[in-house]
Amino acid sequence: MLTIKDLIRDDDTKRKYEAVKAMVGVSGMRSSIYDVNNICNLRCKGCFYFSSDQHKVDDQKDLDKLKAFIDSEKARGVNYAILIGGEPSLSLDRLDVWYANVKCSAATNGLKRIPRERYPSMRFGISLWGDEEDEIRLRGKNAFGTSLKSYKDDPNTYYLYTITPQTIGAVETVTKKIGDAGLRVHYQLFSNDQGVEGMDWTPDLYAEVRDKMDAMLEKYPRIVVSSHYYHQVLTTQTMLGRPFGWMECPSVSEGVDTREPRPKRLAGFNSIGSDYTTIHRCCTSVTRDCTTCHDGAATMSWIMVNKRDHMTTPEDFANWVDVTYMFAKLYEFIPW
Ligand code: SF4
Ligand code: SF4
Repeated sequence: MLTIKDLIRDDDTKRKYEAVKAMVGVSGMRSSIYDVNNICNLRCKGCFYFSSDQHKVDDQKDLDKLKAFIDSEKARGVNYAILIGGEPSLSLDRLDVWYANVKCSAATNGLKRIPRERYPSMRFGISLWGDEEDEIRLRGKNAFGTSLKSYKDDPNTYYLYTITPQTIGAVETVTKKIGDAGLRVHYQLFSNDQGVEGMDWTPDLYAEVRDKMDAMLEKYPRIVVSSHYYHQVLTTQTMLGRPFGWMECPSVSEGVDTREPRPKRLAGFNSIGSDYTTIHRCCTSVTRDCTTCHDGAATMSWIMVNKRDHMTTPEDFANWVDVTYMFAKLYEFIPW
């Protein structure tokens, strides 16, 4: 194996590697995902949360029990909580308890504003399915238009934009609107969990969306938080010649992970339901087919946990550094 000195052959990689190395928090991060509640104010088409019955888990409302649960998670080693839903903006009393007790970020659909003044340092990630018309068609409401106004110029908010096979043409318009509102965007791809006709990716569509994401990153580097290698892995579902899927995924909950041989995985990671007991299979849902999964967080984690395998050529290592640097920005270890 080459040394780091052999592997770093350009200034950009050196700068990013130094930044990542200085942020000890990245390598020491122990994250898990938590459902804050089991309710939502939208019913998006293709939402795996409802189709996989995660909303049928009991909604534990006792804040003392929540505090005790957070303490037990911290004792388990968790130091970063990713709060999802249901919809966190509908349960601010619970967000208060999380915020007071552990570093956390919240994923929201953006329809109801989470008051920034109440959570000065919490990272908000707004889920986005397309432009205003797509949002109405796919989610029933123009959540995008609402959140653009609610979070305008918020320095700690970004959009997690899920691009679908039918909405590649809108990517630049949407990206520009996000930039005009003083916000940032990170892309992932739609996973056709429910087999909706016309929503499957094809080799041509993969190539088209990869070109589009690459072009956006080049054209709007201050708005788009991403990396070319991430785009490549996301659209080929392969990394260093290995296919992504169940036997490689790093984001399977540790509490239910019986895979043999055990792949490289996120240490201590669990995805836990709103009863603080149920462990979901992975960071998405048990009904998702791993062979067509395009989850962005699982993809970038897959690259990151396989650092050693990227330490064979300067190009592979630069790719690994790029993705880790992007991840560190998304999870607030490095400023935008
Ligand atoms: S906002 Fe999220 S949880 Fe709510 S319906 Fe849409 S995808 Fe599902
Ligand atoms: S559905 Fe996706 S995130 Fe879940 S285990 Fe499969 S590959 Fe991993």
